Amino acid sequence: MEDCIFCKIIKGEIPSFKVYEDDMVFAFEDINPIAEGHTLVIPKEHAKDLGEVSNESLSAVHKASKKILDAIKRALQPTGVVAVQLNGESVGQSIFHYHLHLIPRLKNAPRLPVAQMKMIPGDMEQIEKTAEKIRNSVI
Ligand code: 5GP
Ligand code: ZN
Repeated sequence: MEDCIFCKIIKGEIPSFKVYEDDMVFAFEDINPIAEGHTLVIPKEHAKDLGEVSNESLSAVHKASKKILDAIKRALQPTGVVAVQLNGESVGQSIFHYHLHLIPRLKNAPRLPVAQMKMIPGDMEQIEKTAEKIRNSVI
């Protein structure tokens, strides 16, 4: 897609710090890293988000992300790695080309902002109702 920064990165029109590439997937370092080794894994096919990406690209991205996860572990010895992906401007998506963030937490580094969800028990009746609503919407 013409105006997409990530499509331009894949084509080499915008420089990037590439860590992996295959027929369907490209992976590179985020230039605003939440932590050292923050990597973005993207399909070569342009698709704006999880709702639009093809099953083939999705599967290729996740398959490649396993390899990259292993490489991050070997290279940086993190204590853990967050895999996260945003869909929609209101939840913070800023680049509308599907991408999976792999964000390592290195030893002694502060807890990652994306891994700070607090566990507060919900209203079980409401959870049940919502589950039913979603389940009934699966097609
Ligand atoms: P989102 O918020 O859409 O999930 O994540 C987009 C990510 O792309 C952000 O973490 C941002 O730092 C990164 N990003 C934006 N522009 C560029 C760029 O030109 N090069 C690289 N390597 N990363 C970028
Ligand atoms: Zn694109």
